[in-house]
Amino acid sequence: MSTKASKSQNQIDSILINREWCKRCGICVAFCPKHVFEEDKEGTVSIPRPEDCIYCELCERLCPDLAITLVPQTRVAGDGT
Ligand code: SF4
Ligand code: SF4
Repeated sequence: MSTKASKSQNQIDSILINREWCKRCGICVAFCPKHVFEEDKEGTVSIPRPEDCIYCELCERLCPDLAITLVPQTRVAGDGT
């Protein structure tokens, strides 16, 4: 199961978190410069502010379990590829 947060303002179309792979370490919450993520008491990560994402790719690179996938708009916009 994954959680999807869609947005349209910046380069990111959506941020996906694979709940089965996420070990609730909080790294993405701690390092995201735009505070896109939040975690509850159990460490479950949510994406309350996807519109603030600047596509720095930090979360995708730092997640130790590769649970985060950023989906750029270009990958889903059908630009001829
Ligand atoms: S790509 Fe950067 S700004 Fe966007 S959610 Fe990840 S860490 Fe935050
Ligand atoms: S960095 Fe990855 S494993 Fe850690 S809380 Fe975020 S999504 Fe889950």
